[in-house]
Amino acid sequence: MTETVQFDSLGLAPELLRALTDSGYTTPTPIQAQAIPLALAGGDLMAGAQTGTGKTAAFLIAAYQRVLNAEGERPEQRQPLVFALAPTRELAIQIAKDAEVLGAHTGLKIGLAYGGTDYEKQRKRLSDGVDLLIGTPGRIIDFFKQGVFKLDRVEVAILDEADRMFDLGFIKDIRYLLRRLPSPEKRLNLL
Ligand code: AMP
Repeated sequence: MTETVQFDSLGLAPELLRALTDSGYTTPTPIQAQAIPLALAGGDLMAGAQTGTGKTAAFLIAAYQRVLNAEGERPEQRQPLVFALAPTRELAIQIAKDAEVLGAHTGLKIGLAYGGTDYEKQRKRLSDGVDLLIGTPGRIIDFFKQGVFKLDRVEVAILDEADRMFDLGFIKDIRYLLRRLPSPEKRLNLL
């Protein structure tokens, strides 16, 4: 007999379990084993953990599960349901890569918005409609102000490395964006 929790005992959607199996993940890391059940119960989370602990996957699994649970009528034009902010382009890209893997069987679309490059490419992808919006604050605000997407359908807000974003002086941008989301009690908040 084993006390170890396995992913398949967490009540996750089959689409997510398939993706986890594809990735070769069977056993949640400690932070995943702690965080995922709390988030699935609807509680907001603040996870303090180093990189390498599986924090990104913990956030993403919780986010996907929440969105899959809530799946009801979708408006014709997709609007972000998951909103993830990161301090750097590299981190945003890494989150999106993990999201591609974990969401491979969900049919949900991912879009990136980060500064410095790919302006038109990102804009086109986002205006075509995405379910997950991942990026850095400045570029997201730029697109938001142009009406490229709306933020009023967001069900999960993720602030990755929030402490670093504050250190980098993003606090005003983050507050601007958070005020455009549905009120905090209507969404799952992960940081
Ligand atoms: P992170 O802490 O989010 O930077 O993740 C660290 C690394 O662990 C990443 O390369 C993930 O692909 C990997 N990882 C995340 N969750 C698991 C898991 N449950 N089992 C094995 N590897 C994992």
